[in-house]
Amino acid sequence: MNKIDEESGKQILEEDSSASIGEGETLDNIAEASSMLTTIQHMHCAVHTLQLAIRDGLKDHHAATVIGKLRQVTVAGRAPKTDAILKRHAGKGAILDQTTHWGGTCLMINMALRACGLIIYRRLSQASSKPEENIQFLLLQTSYGRHHWTPPKGHVDPGEDDLQTALRETEEEAGLKSMDFQIIDGFKKELQYEVRSQPKTVVYWLAELRDNNIEICLSKEHQAYRWLGLEKACQLSGYQDMQEALREAHSFLLRRKQN
Ligand code: AMP
Repeated sequence: MNKIDEESGKQILEEDSSASIGEGETLDNIAEASSMLTTIQHMHCAVHTLQLAIRDGLKDHHAATVIGKLRQVTVAGRAPKTDAILKRHAGKGAILDQTTHWGGTCLMINMALRACGLIIYRRLSQASSKPEENIQFLLLQTSYGRHHWTPPKGHVDPGEDDLQTALRETEEEAGLKSMDFQIIDGFKKELQYEVRSQPKTVVYWLAELRDNNIEICLSKEHQAYRWLGLEKACQLSGYQDMQEALREAHSFLLRRKQN
């Protein structure tokens, strides 16, 4: 049975040990092995093995080297010569899928390390006595890990661009559709931090809620949400880089209003 990743709350696809690629195996004998199978499940397993390598195997300080090598394998797997080998051994049906999955391996490496989201804010309709509190940011509390507070965000899926990911994750995690907010031109913030010794990049855009009364619908990944003025949002988010992102967003909005 698949396990649940404690950080993301999502299912982890387990390696199929009967079909994993062992040390010393070459692309030729992988292709030969594939000719004995009527399905292409072994290629899925190759991808899952790499996914597990990314999740668990790169805890030492050689992550960049390992990723570099995985990329080389990906490129080799897409070369015409390898295609010809696969065609000879695997039959036409499998070749298309195999090529796709090798490409997917490279995508998956990038996906695991990249997330995108939206810093959503709303303006209070009745101005507060403290003007800096007129803008409130939406933070969600994770139901995984340390139950930290974060804007909606998540991993890039295959075939998505960053903004599509941010929109999809906002809908999945907060129940807000793109028609519910307006993306603010000119603001984009990139955060870099490490998760279990792996570098992670998170890209945020800024978006204003159109209707302050709209309901926030959480997914299982979060257990609470709050609308908070800048200082409280910074306090709750805790992480230095997230605080900077919120402060920059806030200053950007104040400057924008004055112009
Ligand atoms: P997340 O990227 O929010 O899914 O969180 C994954 C892990 O990274 C959790 O252990 C968080 O506590 C941690 N984390 C989340 N946001 C940040 C951040 N801005 N800076 C550093 N670590 C973070």
